[in-house]
Amino acid sequence: MLAPALAARLRTVVGADGLVTRPESLRVYECDGYTLERAVPELVVLPRSPAEVSAVLRLLAADRISFVPRGAGTGLAGGTLPVEAPVMICTSRMQVIEAIDVENRRIVVQAGVVNQWVTNAVRAHGLCYAPDPSSQPACTIGGNVAENSGGPHTLKYGVTTNHVLGVELALPSGDLVALGGAVEDRPGYDLVGLVVGGEGTLGIVTRATLRLVRAPEAFRTLLAVFDSVDAASDAVSGIIAAGVVPAALEMMDRLIVAAVEAAFRIGLPTDAGAVLLVELDGPAVGLDAQAERVASVCRGSGVREIRVARDEAERAALWKCRKRAFGAVGRLAPNYCTQDGVVPRTRVPDIVRRIAAAAERHRLRIANVFHAGDGNIHPILLYDERDPDEVVRVLAAGREILEACVALGGSLTGEHGIGVEKRGLMPLLFSPDDLLVMSRLREVFDPERRANPHKVLPDAKVCVETRTPRRQAAM
Ligand SMILES: Cc1cc2nc3c(=O)[nH]c(=O)nc-3n(C[C@H](O)[C@H](O)[C@H](O)COP(=O)(O)OP(=O)(O)OC[C@H]3O[C@@H](n4cnc5c(N)ncnc54)[C@H](O)[C@@H]3O)c2cc1C
Repeated sequence: MLAPALAARLRTVVGADGLVTRPESLRVYECDGYTLERAVPELVVLPRSPAEVSAVLRLLAADRISFVPRGAGTGLAGGTLPVEAPVMICTSRMQVIEAIDVENRRIVVQAGVVNQWVTNAVRAHGLCYAPDPSSQPACTIGGNVAENSGGPHTLKYGVTTNHVLGVELALPSGDLVALGGAVEDRPGYDLVGLVVGGEGTLGIVTRATLRLVRAPEAFRTLLAVFDSVDAASDAVSGIIAAGVVPAALEMMDRLIVAAVEAAFRIGLPTDAGAVLLVELDGPAVGLDAQAERVASVCRGSGVREIRVARDEAERAALWKCRKRAFGAVGRLAPNYCTQDGVVPRTRVPDIVRRIAAAAERHRLRIANVFHAGDGNIHPILLYDERDPDEVVRVLAAGREILEACVALGGSLTGEHGIGVEKRGLMPLLFSPDDLLVMSRLREVFDPERRANPHKVLPDAKVCVETRTPRRQAAM
């Protein structure tokens, strides 16, 4: 239990409205987008500035109290679950866009700025921030940096790490350190690269300097309808082999198409085996030729129908379906768990078969949405949390799918991170020596391991059952 005096001291830093202490309000923070496990923090602190984050961390350091960073709570791997960390530090009030440098194409934002706001702020200058997770109307830049987030357009533009020039990090001691900065290619170790994807285990990102890119002049957005996932996967490989690099190459299977169509009614074919959403962007000249090349490859793979968005409204409707696909899943089941793994692009048909086999073996329904161009799969395992046996089967199937990704030459996560959910699987990818080196690296930033404890790295000292649903308390 936290000492009541601590809350009083924190209040002097963040004000009375900067602390959440009432049990019913704390319930809001019991989980993020990974709802299989829940634990309520003892206290949530809402700083308004990097200086307040620093002051809060100094108070926690004095009492050696562990903490969990949180942005918008849209994470899908349980990264914000408080495990042996009574205090949650939430950046949602740190919303200032501090500087826009149009000439040099960069922007400095505080950690709680929402992803979509960055592009909104620079659109008038013909610029945009390229990483576009489907959660972009809600997720924060701090969360994106912590998770090294991707999105549908990362096939062409890269993930968050390719767009972060510098960060300010509040170390668990409370010290603020500036890593990287406005200039590219700085000498020395790539410490920004270490913090991006650090999942809050190295400290709290308070500010980030982001690279902006020129907004594309024109788009061609195609919807290709196939009878099977195999045929659609064949087209994906064919498009890349033809030398076309689409900005986005997304696949949705029959189950998800049915849910999306029920939600948005834009005339998607609910009897299709799979649909591909292909977006080409860049200078207007040449886009039609590229679109024809894509269509030709799709025809060679047995496409049933191809639609090309005729205007911005039709393009927006297609993207609405894809980006809100997760929301539409609520029509299929009371609960769902979104898995995130990667396989080499050519192994997409294999992993889809393995997912189907896991669904059958565990008597589950699994829908598939994925960034097919990257081989980044997102099987969505449907369940009802009131059925404990089904929850156990979901966990077993999820684990099998990730094991299959690794066996096929892929990885445990494409963009959602390891969090609490997958840390027990890290030994599938890394040797004990690898994990020890990572652990020592972490201790350089956080010698007492108080920043987001029990995340990312398996803990040699504590025996953790990572597959117990509904972890309610500290382990
Ligand atoms: C509908 C939906 C669609 C999604 N689509 C995508 C997608 O297309 N691509 C993708 O990559 N992800 C996607 N996600 C996952 C999620 O949105 C991203 O991981 C996002 O970056 C999380 O941001 P957040 O602000 O919500 O962070 P949170 O969920 O609050 O936190 C995520 C992790 O980051 C840490 N953290 C948060 N803020 C900080 C900080 N300032 N400093 C240090 N650590 C911090 C937390 O401790 C936690 O470990 C999706 C999620 C949903 C619900």
